[in-house]
Amino acid sequence: MEFVSTRGGVGSVGFSDALRQGLAGDGGLYVPRQWPTLPPGHFAEAATLADFATQLIAPFAAGDPLASELAELTNEAFDFPVPLSPIEGVSGYEILELFHGPTAAFKDVGARFLAASMSRLRRASDPQVQILVATSGDTGGAVAAAFFGRAGFRVTVLFPQGLVSPTQQQQLTCWGGNVQAFAVRGTFDDCQKLVKQAFADPQLQARFDLSSANSINLGRLLPQAAYYARASLSVWRRFGRKASFIVPTGNLGNALACIWARQLGLPIDRILIAVNANQTIPDFLASGEWRPRPSISTIASAMDVGNPSNMERLRHLLPGIEMLREAVTAVSVDDAAIRARVVTDFRTYGRIWCPHTAVAAEAWARLTVTERAAHHWVIVGTAHPAKFGEVLRPLVGEALRTPPSLQALYDRPSSFDILRPELGELRSAMLTATLA
Ligand SMILES: *Cc1c(COP(=O)(O)O)cnc(C)c1O
Repeated sequence: MEFVSTRGGVGSVGFSDALRQGLAGDGGLYVPRQWPTLPPGHFAEAATLADFATQLIAPFAAGDPLASELAELTNEAFDFPVPLSPIEGVSGYEILELFHGPTAAFKDVGARFLAASMSRLRRASDPQVQILVATSGDTGGAVAAAFFGRAGFRVTVLFPQGLVSPTQQQQLTCWGGNVQAFAVRGTFDDCQKLVKQAFADPQLQARFDLSSANSINLGRLLPQAAYYARASLSVWRRFGRKASFIVPTGNLGNALACIWARQLGLPIDRILIAVNANQTIPDFLASGEWRPRPSISTIASAMDVGNPSNMERLRHLLPGIEMLREAVTAVSVDDAAIRARVVTDFRTYGRIWCPHTAVAAEAWARLTVTERAAHHWVIVGTAHPAKFGEVLRPLVGEALRTPPSLQALYDRPSSFDILRPELGELRSAMLTATLA
């Protein structure tokens, strides 16, 4: 399968090259040239999530060097459970728990598949690959965990000093080994700017094979479609209904994976994009005008995105506002409503949502009774609540439990250096570091 840029300014590339490059040379995002059809019968009844991922990604990797290794890659990436759990006493309402991986957020799925793929693609004689990520929360931790200890790779994570939660900071700084963490005296935007400057820097380019592993990489997106495929077929086989998903959304990667799964022919009905106070997407669907803006900071911070990058892929798939309105709906939930939903659902169902998942739970609660009954709803649980103790403990008290995998990360020693947001400082820190 060939992949083309959304901007049409470069030739098509194969699966491996799309993964290696991340962004296309014309600044666009890679999308499949054609859409294969994967009807329910394509997937074996008893397939594991890794099997689903192998079968789903296979047509995209056809003819590529990675094709013969897919089963191994997906086994390596999907080595944790992704259960669909019902909500007691409410029919047609389930939660897809994407947060049982090493850093307890859905980003583990894509980051682990990409890391496994990149390490297969690297030859022993190649220069060391330097992954460079700016992070405001979950991405840096998932990428660090996925590349931690992989020969031939090192990871540098930049986060804004004092602007990530203590728990998030621990997940960025607890690795050591081939992972280096920097607290930047500035904002997330400063961190991102620094990463861009580093990619353009001749001295760093001469020393390292720089790579971003960021969320627009196809290698992070495609494996995410696998859990939608599996969840929708589970609903289809149990209830004879298509599944409708409510997806907590920031950069639109996770929701796009759901839209792609539907495009492939999986039994998915409605897709509801649930955003926090960053309303670029709902405003666009309402007005037809795309107006990206600076992000607003909220308690669902991994969704604080004012210019969702994957909209470029969605508009490429569905050019025209009417097509988009047909395909998805969107709703915005502010911090007060997130907090209220956490408290209500804890009291009503005994469930504790992370602030991001609570955005989706609130979106469900705002559906009319008729809409709720007309569809089988699955809310997407994007992170484990224990990652957000600072926000949630005041709302639910001591009921919040930390799973052992997360506790193991909290118990590791933390180490990081502080940087001013200047390329010269980052450069010398990267050039002089001796990482394992
Ligand atoms: C990244 C993230 C999101 C947003 O996902 P996108 O793919 O950027 O839309 C939602 N919830 C959590 C917990 C996240 O880490």
